[in-house]
Amino acid sequence: TPHQPTDLHAGLDATLVMLNGKIKPGITVVKEYDRTLPQVPAYAGELNQVWTNLIVNALDAMDGEGTLTVRTGRDGDCALVEIADTGPGIPEELRSRVFEPFFTTKPVGQGTGLGLDVSWRVVVKRHGGDLRVTSRPGDTRFQVMLPLSEPAG
Ligand code: ADP
Ligand code: MG
Repeated sequence: TPHQPTDLHAGLDATLVMLNGKIKPGITVVKEYDRTLPQVPAYAGELNQVWTNLIVNALDAMDGEGTLTVRTGRDGDCALVEIADTGPGIPEELRSRVFEPFFTTKPVGQGTGLGLDVSWRVVVKRHGGDLRVTSRPGDTRFQVMLPLSEPAG
């Protein structure tokens, strides 16, 4: 099935509503949406899995206290979605490993270590986009780049 024109903000909002019960009182949710962003060709359901994993990871990292920021914007030919948290961050030596299947620092039963592996495959392989992380204590950002138009060929 082909990609369908997809409203990224609708998917992000639906994901936040779905995760509402996981958002503790000490968490502030900030939405910084670029409303001029057009729809992007995408598999909406697959992208919602990506938003779910990135937001759950951010909430897990903050442990009940902090700010979750969901940001959208444009970066050249791509839409950019950024999920940012104010948690402790990811040590530099682990930053490349977090995308490996089964890599998790969570207690047994709480993390499969598959979320970022699946997210990477959805974004990069299924949408021709990119998934990156920047992190320092108090400011961790997962950035999803999605092409604004269908790749040629
Ligand atoms: P899981 O959530 O099941 O552990 P993921 O693939 O989603 O698996 O994430 C892998 C690991 O990456 C996490 O266990 C955690 O160590 C690290 N990680 C992911 N997101 C964050 C974040 N926002 N802040 C700190 N560490 C993170
Ligand atoms: Mg996860």
